[in-house]
Formats: sequence, structure tokens, C-alpha cells
Amino acid sequence: MFTKSMTVSRKNGLLFIDDVALEQVAARFGTPVYIYSWSQIADRFSALKNALSELDSLICYSVKANSNLAILHRLTKLGAGFDIVSGGELERVLQVGGNPATVVFSGVGKSVEDIDFAIKAGIYCFNVESKSELLRIEDRARLLQKVAPVSIRINPNIDAGTHPYISTGLNENKFGVPEQMAFELYKKAKTSSHLDIKGVDSHIGSQISNITAFGEALDHELKLASRLASEGIDINHLDIGGGLGIRYDTEVPINVTAYGKLITQKLTSSRLSQIQGINPKIIVEPGRYLVAESGMLVTKVEYLKPAPGPEFKNFAIVDAAMNDLLRPALYGAYHNIEPLIEESESTDEKWNLVGPICESADFLALNRSLSLSEGDLLAIMTTGAYGFTLSSNYNSRPRPPEILIEGDQMLEIRSRESIDDLLRREKIV
Ligand SMILES: *Cc1c(COP(=O)(O)O)cnc(C)c1O
Repeated sequence: MFTKSMTVSRKNGLLFIDDVALEQVAARFGTPVYIYSWSQIADRFSALKNALSELDSLICYSVKANSNLAILHRLTKLGAGFDIVSGGELERVLQVGGNPATVVFSGVGKSVEDIDFAIKAGIYCFNVESKSELLRIEDRARLLQKVAPVSIRINPNIDAGTHPYISTGLNENKFGVPEQMAFELYKKAKTSSHLDIKGVDSHIGSQISNITAFGEALDHELKLASRLASEGIDINHLDIGGGLGIRYDTEVPINVTAYGKLITQKLTSSRLSQIQGINPKIIVEPGRYLVAESGMLVTKVEYLKPAPGPEFKNFAIVDAAMNDLLRPALYGAYHNIEPLIEESESTDEKWNLVGPICESADFLALNRSLSLSEGDLLAIMTTGAYGFTLSSNYNSRPRPPEILIEGDQMLEIRSRESIDDLLRREKIV
């Protein structure tokens, strides 16, 4: 059942990232613990950059996938820009020395405070998601006596064939605006001395492996950009969003080389480029693609509750829970489970891996063939994206530490929370 991955390898039955056995990490930092491989993230970044090498491109890492400062800092060093969705994420980027001129700001509910912060910080572009937001940004820019950079997020009504909770490019979704409305908003923005039109934006969803859907979204953007050019509105960039699909189980991951070729070919053969002579920069906003497969959550089996009869289930109660990793409870997401020490025999027994939280949705994996004993350590794979960032303190559980592996080093990039951390802001009145 061991799936070949670049991230981990087995040596003498033990699971390794680079030169570090995951057991050593658990021994030093305890469980549950999030562990990431830096080389995996760096490899993904170069693969995408290479796939787009014929274009002027900017990879704006989607900070919400994994916003640990150490990871943002290292991505800055590789030349990444950032896609943010809040003032908090902007603060993170600034704290690691990220260049605000490489930041795009997405999201349907930007507050006045966040808009002011971003204008003052000098971000590259707001990805505007409604008419009201455009008017608010213009207002704030006028008050601050600045010019705010904008692009409109179009909703191209494309079904990317993904989970309904992570699909964003359909008319029924809350994101972006229809193309005709976007066209009107651009014309309005053009007349404002406090708005500067930068590009056209879309993001059609997450976990997309079918590159045709990305191609279609780009076609829509190119068509709109060309229409804008005819109105005297020239754009600097096309932002084609994130959502590049990866493998959790048996999914076919995106082929980034084919993705890069498709985008390059569409752009260079477009009317915009060929006839109107406009060659916009391409912005991509990958989150999961860069970090998901780099990460795992290592947990310990606390108790086994074998089924007392055929109508019951086998439960393995582990020390990680839905507060540490929400994806299974939220999306019914599948994560592969790897024992840290290779199983010596195979088994027909199926186990539900559940946490200690008082919710029936508190499961991490269902019906897995595992040969388990109490005290065993298990890696919940592919949890580098939307793992720690979706975690909470439900049931007053301090969150796990985050450890970055590089070569033979275990770098603690976030320490384990204490109960004191959780209680600090509360007052008995
Ligand atoms: C979440 C998000 C992304 C990243 O999505 P992934 O599936 O992690 O690549 C990119 N752009 C926007 C606007 C997002 O909301």
C-alpha cells in the first residue's frame, strides 16, 4: 500500500524525509506533529517555474494553503510572489521580507482596514470580486490620496469537475463577476483617477487536473483583454489563478509541463498578442500544488477499540483530531496512512482512525487495512496544504508543532502550543 512519493522513502522499514527518520522527529517533538519537506516544496516551485519559462511569469503562492513564516520566507528567496486573502496574510508576507509589489489580494469580503493596509503597503494588485468592492477601493484610495491597482476577477462559468466546496468558477458560486459586468467595471475604473487597471483575474476552483479547464478560463480572459484593448484599456497581466491538482489517493495529478505548454501556446497565438501586440505577464496562484505533498501529520495510536461483533467497526483512537486536520471532516477528504515502521505482515482488518474529540465527524481515515498496536506511530500523508492553516483549538487542544526537514536537519518552525497560550486572552469578570 506504500505509494511512491518524492517526499518520503523507506530505509530498513523506517519512513524518512531526506536523512531524517520521522520516528526521530516524533521522539524529539512529541505527537501529534506536522512535518514538512523543504526539498519537495522547492522542487515543485522549480517545476512550475520551468513549465512557464517561455513566458514572463510570476508565481504568487496562495498563502492560505500553509502560512508558516519559515515557508513564506524560503519561498520569497526562490522568487515567489504571494496571493493573500486578508490583512493578516499581508502582515506575514511583510514580516518575512516579501516584496509587496509581488502581492495580489483576493477574496470577496475585503474590509476597509485590509484595503487601507494593502494600499499603504503598495501591493501589486487587488483582485476585485464585486462592483461594491471596486467602489470601496476607489473611495479608500481617494481618501488616502493614492492610486489603487486593480484587476477584476471574472467568473467564466466553467465546471472544473471538482468537489462542490472547492469549485469557484460557476455562476452559482460567490466568487468573481460575470464577464459582461467585468467589462462595464473596467470601463468605470478607466475613468477613475484613483484606480489603475493592472490585469484580468480568474480562479476556477481547486484540485483541478484537467488542463482543458485552465485553457478555457484563459480563453475567456484573453477574449475580455482583447475587448478591453479595443476600448483603449491595455492590461499588464493575466492571472489564471491556482487550483493545480495533486494526488491524495488515486487522482491523476496535473501535468505542469503540459499546463505550461498550453498556456504558452494560447497566449502566444492569441489575437491579443498577434494582432493587438499585447504580451501580458502570466500570474499563477498555486497553493496546494506547492505544499500539500510536502507535509504529513504524525500521530500516535492511543487506544484500540476492536469491534465486539460483526455489526460494529474497529476504531483506532489516535492523538491527532479534527481540530488538527479538518479536511476529512469538512470534505470527506482522503489521506493515505503510512505506519512509521513498515508492517511485517499484511492484514484483512479494517480500521477507522478517529480522534479524541466529542464529534462523530472527528475521523481522519475510514476503513483502512492496517495492522495496528497501541503506541504505533502513523503518518497521515499529504497534509502540507490546508492542514495546519485549517486547525483550531476545539476541545481546548493546543495545536501541534511544525517541523521543517532539510537534509539532516529538523527545524522547528512553530513550537507546540501550550494551554497557557490558549487561555491568555480570556478574563474572568
Ligand atoms: C485558495 C485560492 C488559491 C489556491 O488554491 P489551490 O487549490 O491551493 O491552488 C488561489 N487563488 C485563490 C483566489 C484562492 O482563493
